[in-house]
Amino acid sequence: MEKQSEIQDYDVVIVGGGPAGMTAGMYAARAMLKTVIFEKMIPGGQLNNTHLIENYPGYESISGAELAEKMANHAKAHGCEFRQEWVEEVSCCDDNYKHVKTSSGLYRAKVVIMAPGGENRKLGIPGEKEFSGAGVSYCAICDGAFFRDRVIAVAGGGDAAVEEGIFLTKFGSKVFIIHRRDELRAKKSLQHEAFENPKIEIVWDSVVEEIAGDGKVEFLKLKNVKTGEMSRLDVGAIFIFIGFVPNSALVKDSLELDGDGYILTNDRMESSIPGIYAIGDVKPNICKQVSVSVGEGTLAAVDSERYINNGRAKGWWD
Ligand code: NAP
Repeated sequence: MEKQSEIQDYDVVIVGGGPAGMTAGMYAARAMLKTVIFEKMIPGGQLNNTHLIENYPGYESISGAELAEKMANHAKAHGCEFRQEWVEEVSCCDDNYKHVKTSSGLYRAKVVIMAPGGENRKLGIPGEKEFSGAGVSYCAICDGAFFRDRVIAVAGGGDAAVEEGIFLTKFGSKVFIIHRRDELRAKKSLQHEAFENPKIEIVWDSVVEEIAGDGKVEFLKLKNVKTGEMSRLDVGAIFIFIGFVPNSALVKDSLELDGDGYILTNDRMESSIPGIYAIGDVKPNICKQVSVSVGEGTLAAVDSERYINNGRAKGWWD
């Protein structure tokens, strides 16, 4: 066990360096709080996998990597530290300090802001990784406009697949929703809207076995799970909405989560433990957008300052 003297003290420790974490880092550091962001990769999170962003206010079009770099530089300019360390443990609480163990050290903080994001569930089929950003997408709002007048496929049968499928009819000449069963999981109102939409066709009892093309998505190989029959579907893009997996394993035994593993918070982004916040895609949110994450990072940092200066014996949950 490490000695007490090896523990480094911070006001605010932020777990995850995506847009939510970097915004919280910028606000907290600017408020003169000693702040560090732990990010195992380069700062930016999912921004680094996004080719172009056309819906972040102030930028008509900017690459995800460039926006990530600008956000990181902004946070650093106000004194926020970045450390490329993997957070292994977040534990609570001793004299109101939270303890954070990383791949390289031990830290104490008055506030911990959880911003580790999550991952879109993957189909795990040939072509999915290879064509990511070249016709394979997990975000209709981000990428739908790139496929105007093209045939678009959507994989999944839940609320996200059906809602985004309806949204994609704004752009696509036709939208095929490919679902592995003969009944959608999505709520009835969305189902009704999809069934009424002349641009939508549901491909029942089917799974995508392969995404194929020459440099970009051109067609899908489908399998009917009831008959075993294989078929080819020509498309310009496939949007995959088969669920999202939040990175909440670190705190699954200490914070309140919902049934899908998202960290529950109040309106100030505070979790079930006062002084531990959750922002971005690790909390339940029906709109996973950079602008939403940025807003949540702001709320958490501003409330962190109040928490550190005034303290709160009891949280919103008590
Ligand atoms: P979800 O409800 O878990 O649905 C995932 C869908 O993907 C299901 O239809 C599932 O099929 C299918 N699926 C899962 N793994 C698959 C695989 N390996 N291959 C093929 N298909 C697969 O996820 P979601 O649609 O992302 O929604 C997540 C949560 O957000 C839900 O609670 C939802 O209600 C909520 N949400 C709400 C709204 C809204 O209210 N407007 C919008 C979006 C999301 P099965 O049905 O056969 O299991």
